Amino acid sequence: MSWTEERVEKLKELWSQGMSASEIAEALGDVSRNAVIGKAHRLGLSGRPSPIRKKPVRGATILSLNERMCKWPIGDPKDPDFYFCAKPTVPGLPYCAEHAAIAYQPASKKRSDDRKVGAA
Ligand SMILES: [Zn+2]
Repeated sequence: MSWTEERVEKLKELWSQGMSASEIAEALGDVSRNAVIGKAHRLGLSGRPSPIRKKPVRGATILSLNERMCKWPIGDPKDPDFYFCAKPTVPGLPYCAEHAAIAYQPASKKRSDDRKVGAA
């Protein structure tokens, strides 16, 4: 069998949908699972999101955090899943709008750290 343009398109489509190589082989017919993998690799399709590495797409770690990312901690710092919110910050604040509202809530004057907000 040969890779016609049609079949290649189909392969790309199914691959991007996250179908396994054997499922794609079955869908295309007349092709082995290995041939599908080989073709996908040559097409550069192998970089699709793997179910194995679905780590923090959300938020940021302390290493990837930058000035304009919300520094609101989410989870337990001792937990490997711990991360920072990392949404765009409100100008002048270390948090996003949502977390700034929590952090600077007038109702609960939390002054545990001596931050001079709005000081002259
Ligand atoms: Zn936030």
